[in-house]
Parts: sequence; C-alpha cells; structure tokens
Amino acid sequence: MAEKSAAHVIIMGPQGAGKGTQAALIAPRLHLEHISTGDLFREVMAGDSELGQEIRSYVDRGALVPDALTIRMLMDHVDHVLGGESEMRGMLLDGFPRNQAQAEALDLALRERGDRLVSVVHVDVPRERLMERLTGRLVCPNCGATYHRGFNPPKVEGVCDVCGSSLIQRSDDTPEAVERRLSIYYEQTAPVLDYYRAKGLLLDVDGDRPIVDVSERIVEALLPKFDVD
Ligand code: ADP
Ligand code: ADP
Ligand code: ZN
Repeated sequence: MAEKSAAHVIIMGPQGAGKGTQAALIAPRLHLEHISTGDLFREVMAGDSELGQEIRSYVDRGALVPDALTIRMLMDHVDHVLGGESEMRGMLLDGFPRNQAQAEALDLALRERGDRLVSVVHVDVPRERLMERLTGRLVCPNCGATYHRGFNPPKVEGVCDVCGSSLIQRSDDTPEAVERRLSIYYEQTAPVLDYYRAKGLLLDVDGDRPIVDVSERIVEALLPKFDVD
C-alpha cells in the first residue's frame, strides 16, 4: 500500500543504552523519522481508550505487548508518517523488534512495501552501567526528550530544554521494573542481534562513551550506506 519505497534503520540495545537519546540526535541528520514503540504505546495509553487500557495492562507490569497488536500499530503508524508529502527517507525504529517473531514480521512487512533495511545499530553498554542510567532518567511527557539527573541534566532543573514542560520520571523506571525489563531484553531481544549480524546488517557501537561521541560514530558509519542509492 506504500506509495514509495523507503530506507529504514533500526537502533537496538538494552534499556538505558541511550537509544532514545541517540535517535533524537541522529534522526534529523539522516532524514529519518524516529519511531519508538514505547512512545507510541504511551501516547495511546494517555488517551484512556479501551485499546489504551489493554496496552497498559502489559506495560505497567513490564511485560511485552503481544506481537500481533504491536506490529499492527507500528505499521499503521509507518503508513501514516511516510505517506503523502513526507520528505523522509524512512524510519529510525527504536524499541522494535524485541524478539525473533517481530523481526521476521518486520522483514515480511518491509518486503511487501518494497522497502530496504539499511542498517541495525547496536548500542552496546555493559549491564552494570544500565541501572544508574535508568533510575536517574527524566523524560518530557510532552515532546519525549530524555535527560539524566547527573549525566545529562536539563539547563533548568525539572524543565524540558526543548519545550519548557515539567519533566517526569517514568513509572517503570523503578529498580524492580528495570530488572524485569532487562531480563526480557537479554532473553528475548539480544538473540535478534545475531539474526541481523548474520545478514551483514549489524553495526556495533560502543555506547559507554560521551553522548556526542556516540552519535558522531553512528552518523559517520551510516552516511555512506545511504549514499549507495
Ligand atoms: P534507551 O532509549 O536506550 O532506554 P535513553 O536514551 O533513554 O536510553 O538513555 C537512558 C538514560 O541514560 C537517560 O537518562 C540518558 O540521559 C542517559 N544517557 C544516554 N546516553 C548516555 C551516555 N552516552 N552517557 C551517559 N548517560 C547517557
Ligand atoms: P523500555 O525499552 O525501557 O522497556 P520502552 O519505552 O521502549 O521501554 O517501552 C515501554 C513498554 O512498552 C515496554 O516495557 C513494553 O511493555 C512495551 N513495548 C515497547 N515496544 C514493544 C515491542 N516492540 N513489543 C512489545 N512491547 C513493547
Ligand atoms: Zn519537552
């Protein structure tokens, strides 16, 4: 149903690796539209619909939303964003896929659209670094910008640099929920990295470095991959 074919990038890594932070920096430079399935779900949950309540029942206990529902919502959103007048090359997918079934469903959906997967960026950070990143994380409920109390504070305490809204802590950034989400990541999501590695699509990036160094490294590696078009 797509009007034109697109070129997409996936950003992967454990919770706290800096996917959202990096996506905000690199998406505009690569002419990609950043889509986070987590943000997508949080938007629907804010609306208080029946669908929102169903999604909340999974998200609030740190469980994955069922694959079929996730894939349907994501692809509807891709159609919506890339349809019409969009000048974007494609999507920067963040938080998807999370398991092998989602990776294969994505392959199928991209094939049907005639779209290309350019690269899968793996932001690699040792597990022992992640808890302090996540329990210190502050997010903007309005524009999605991400900060950290110590590592990346906003200019004015508690206030979003981008839009001026009050920052919040996510309800699932408690130590217990973080542990649960990280276990799911290492069990179900990390193996998907090998699937993309075997296809020659994986780009390993050291995420345990200053934020700007990480984004420079990613942009430098990805630009030539788009230029081959
Ligand atoms: P993810 O989307 O992978 O879960 P985030 O982008 O939300 O990760 O980052 C998690 C937390 O770590 C945030 O508070 C963010 O400000 C902080 N952070 C991101 N990248 C770095 C980095 N390179 N060094 C230190 N802290 C970082
Ligand atoms: P995190 O990666 O830090 O767990 P996200 O913001 O990416 O947080 O996602 C929040 C929640 O939304 C997840 O805990 C999960 O319940 C749900 N979710 C996000 N992406 C997916 C996905 N691809 N498949 C299933 N559930 C998802
Ligand atoms: Zn904001």
